[in-house]
Amino acid sequence: MTGDGTRCVHAGHEPARDAEIGAPLHAGPVLSSTFHLGLPGDPTPADFYGRADNPTWRALESAVGELDGGECVLFGSGMAAVAAVLRLAARPGAAVVLPADGYYLARVLADEELAPLGVEVRAVPTAGGWPEGVLEGAALVLVETPSNPGLEVCDIAALAERAHAAGALLAVDNTTATPLGQRPLELGADLVVASDSKALAGHGDLVLGHVSSADPVLVGRLRAARARGGAVPGPMEVWLAHRGLGTLDLRLERQAANARALALALREHGCVTDVRWPGLADDPAHAVASRQMRRWNGVLRFTLASADAVAEFLAASRLIASATSFGGLRTTADRRERWGDAVAPGLVRLSAGCEDTADLVADVLAALDAVGR
Ligand SMILES: *Cc1c(COP(=O)(O)O)cnc(C)c1O
Repeated sequence: MTGDGTRCVHAGHEPARDAEIGAPLHAGPVLSSTFHLGLPGDPTPADFYGRADNPTWRALESAVGELDGGECVLFGSGMAAVAAVLRLAARPGAAVVLPADGYYLARVLADEELAPLGVEVRAVPTAGGWPEGVLEGAALVLVETPSNPGLEVCDIAALAERAHAAGALLAVDNTTATPLGQRPLELGADLVVASDSKALAGHGDLVLGHVSSADPVLVGRLRAARARGGAVPGPMEVWLAHRGLGTLDLRLERQAANARALALALREHGCVTDVRWPGLADDPAHAVASRQMRRWNGVLRFTLASADAVAEFLAASRLIASATSFGGLRTTADRRERWGDAVAPGLVRLSAGCEDTADLVADVLAALDAVGR
């Protein structure tokens, strides 16, 4: 089996031995929305219009599909991908089960757009025990593990079994883990959905999402829904994401090392509580996470006493940018209550970047020392 670094560098690119002499090693994005159709009677080619398909999409779809262990369908954003998955199951009288503590817009979308159509929307806490009967009558169960921003974890294989017993599809939002961190399709999930705006593309310069599945019927429905609904990505974004994917293995390695060092340092500081990173051996999510995840990532969370304390911390840091989203090269911090997450006002989701570990730890400890001064 080839390693993650090799797979990231080569996925979706033509093998060198198959290439024509003189062909570019690094082909650019195909920006054309229109393609030569030939004459009446000629067969319609794969590429005929930019809302239906595009060679640059196919290259990244081949790469991500290989990493996910299924077939990938790109969408214009993570939310476009989530919406496509929710709509697969939405019909009057059916229930959709969502994380109560996951990405907030998935719940907003279900409440605002599916509930009025007669879909019953149920919210279940990721680590909340999944009570008997909660999946009954469900057409779709969407879980997010590790969840954003709480970094709670649920057992994908166990929930796949329960969802299937109830006649529901299981979809896993794999944004935080990335395809290198977790392969939900192998664990029994029917669908993987992700925002590739985060670590997968990895540079904070584009918005993109995808759904992967090993079920050709579901894949066909998603492709048709994308072409109809028009939630398509731009070729330039897709090309940039493919370039970013090449270094995902390297970036995750540094980000996870930084997250581990920061989590250990934060725990020792007097003004920090409730540090969570699933990679820590004594984290409440560690046992399940280490069973189903292949490797860790750079997203952690901790809590300061108040929103003011977070403001003092951010003002004192030289390296951390106050910004939402995560998975980029630069370390960023986001106070999640401002977006309406039901969390403490001082809860910070921190996305460890690719800076040197010693520099980052020193900066964070110095910034914490400035809180309350
Ligand atoms: C960011 C995010 C999304 C939405 O993705 P966009 O690319 O911003 O539309 C969905 N799920 C999770 C877990 C996310 O973090």
